[in-house]
Amino acid sequence: MGSTTFRVLPVNRGEACLLTSRRGVYLFDGGGLSGGLARLLRERRVGRLRVAVCTAATIGRLGGILDLMDGGYPVGEYWLPEGLRQLAAAAGTFQKGIYDWLAVCGWSAQDRSTLGLPGSMPSVSGDGPLTVAARMALLGAAACTGCLPDKTGTLTPLETFSAVVELLLRQVAETGGSDLVPLCLDGLERGAGSDPVSRAMLCARLLDRKAEGLSPSRFRGAREVAGIMALAVGVWGLLARDRFRVRWFRQTGRLEQHLVPRHPVMCLNGVPVAGEFGQPGRATAADLFQAVRRLMAPGNGLAFRYGDADCGALVCGESALAFMGRRAVLPLNRPTVITAPQQGGLGGEQAYGRVRSAAPEGDIWVRSHHSFTRRVAEGFCRQPVRCCLYDCRKRTVQEILLAFDRGKWLRASGANCSCI
Ligand SMILES: [Zn+2]
Repeated sequence: MGSTTFRVLPVNRGEACLLTSRRGVYLFDGGGLSGGLARLLRERRVGRLRVAVCTAATIGRLGGILDLMDGGYPVGEYWLPEGLRQLAAAAGTFQKGIYDWLAVCGWSAQDRSTLGLPGSMPSVSGDGPLTVAARMALLGAAACTGCLPDKTGTLTPLETFSAVVELLLRQVAETGGSDLVPLCLDGLERGAGSDPVSRAMLCARLLDRKAEGLSPSRFRGAREVAGIMALAVGVWGLLARDRFRVRWFRQTGRLEQHLVPRHPVMCLNGVPVAGEFGQPGRATAADLFQAVRRLMAPGNGLAFRYGDADCGALVCGESALAFMGRRAVLPLNRPTVITAPQQGGLGGEQAYGRVRSAAPEGDIWVRSHHSFTRRVAEGFCRQPVRCCLYDCRKRTVQEILLAFDRGKWLRASGANCSCI
């Protein structure tokens, strides 16, 4: 087996790909929150990751990466989308307008009058990442419940997280049929009682579950907003531990061709940015919503390309390669593994025409989406060599493991795809 391998991990949700090279191990996305990513890595004796990359702040990509941070998995550095920082900046300066916030999340005036909301958001003391996380926990809770904790005065971040947990659990007691309680007990067992960071993670997990439980037809906006807030609470809570090396990537919306310093990896549509997040005066509910929307926009997401002298890998993520413009093509001049844009679903269809390979038979296209029912992009089916994480014939997981050896990508695990 060659020294370069590419693996699509069988995560419960979303996508997680692992590239092992002479220069270290790179993880591209981590699957869903509480999806057991660390266990999957340990079972495969992966060891230390040089970089864990998040290409888009979605639950199926960032969730597992938060689990790695939370569990102390050895990771050299994290590469995260800068939009999360812009959202934090907006949440940090959002003062007034909680009713506007509920309105943009899709709660009607009638909902609001029956829910009996306090007129303003409680203040949170401090000004570091934990304070921002606590403010986002309040905003996320408001988005998915239409309520705020019934507290006045100034709360510490720990008190805020506790109040949000209490609010979400009270909702469970009233509406029933949820699995939030075991999650909460599990969180408390892990010492979430007095450590604000663990409690922030507990909030993030509860918000994620709560958002997922909302009806997509009735509460679409609230669901999406709360989902993003759950992730943001996790990120900023964990960053308060101050033990992670993070590089932020700003999406520029056009083709970039710079290698990330000291790594054999190029970000195709973004650039690393330095510095702390700015404080843009005073954010309104609309500013805040705008920051959320930017993270969720269709085709949003970073695309990365790995390359050494012999082979390559192209990670398209959610980007759909739209930043290339309609006519531009991305040339591949060595055998490359390509993760199907948007996990092989129809949404990435246009991206297939943007990749132009010198020798398509030497490339392997991989598709990670776990849903059998989801329709497969025609562009994917047209590729000469391709593999699906969930075997399209047997309807079971067939983990994909590819190894580069003597000038070729070979399948060490995973049969040929027969999707049509
Ligand atoms: Zn298939």
